[in-house]
Amino acid sequence: MSQSTTSRRVARVVCGTATSDGAGVKLTRVIGQRELDMLDPFLLLDEFGSDEAVDYIAGFPDHPHRGFETVTYMLAGRMRHGDNHGNSGLLVPGGVQWMTAGRGIVHSEMPEQEHGRMAGFQLWVNLPARDKMTAPRYQDIAPERIPEVDAGAGMRVRVIAGRFGDTLGPVTGIAVAPLYLDIALAPGARGIAPLPSGHNAFAYVFEGGADFGAAAAARALARGELAVFDRAGDGVEFAAGAQGARFILVAGAPLDEPVARHGPFVMNTPEQIVQAIRDYQAGRF
Ligand code: MN
Repeated sequence: MSQSTTSRRVARVVCGTATSDGAGVKLTRVIGQRELDMLDPFLLLDEFGSDEAVDYIAGFPDHPHRGFETVTYMLAGRMRHGDNHGNSGLLVPGGVQWMTAGRGIVHSEMPEQEHGRMAGFQLWVNLPARDKMTAPRYQDIAPERIPEVDAGAGMRVRVIAGRFGDTLGPVTGIAVAPLYLDIALAPGARGIAPLPSGHNAFAYVFEGGADFGAAAAARALARGELAVFDRAGDGVEFAAGAQGARFILVAGAPLDEPVARHGPFVMNTPEQIVQAIRDYQAGRF
């Protein structure tokens, strides 16, 4: 890492809100809620995490998607997915599914366990207008395919998408050229991560706490808080508190296109939403 990185500053801190989705899965919605409607190109970020089966057992039975991508990163537990095109698979701890819904799929995401902990994230990434009706595509990434970099001084980085130093993540061919890192810091550890120029970026702390930004302008974030970074600077500095920290650091190129959004359909115009509903109801997904 360059020592001359200019750190971006924290522009906003947002707390998630408790909600439920699917057939009654309890989760925390961090992006895609009143406080933070979206962060172009990111439409939604949910954190799920519970030791109680009643919070997740109903899962997400058959539902459609069109016009964007869903990214599921599992931390604990196992989830079975299957769609109406015959694709299926098992999401396991430390693995990622990057699903490009494109013109449409109908799928289910159901727990493959009846007890124990289930935890992870689902991120929705918008597709540019030219790709909204592309063929559906899955990138199912097993945990061992995600490189983990020991950056020294108490910092470890799992590289899911984009790059950290010379290490490239396994997710490829995504329109918004995403960065998706899972960063763990030992108590008191400091670190820095480059961010692609012009990308919107956020960090979400899911264990411990950390300061983000250059020392003079750092903001402290606790577990459950998301930092939106400004666009000035070529990276972000961070320093863990006494408990250490673990957070995801995510960035993507903004699309700067109109967004028409209706539940599981995200298009550019209201007419395209009407068409999506018609196509879904006519079984054309
Ligand atoms: Mn889904």
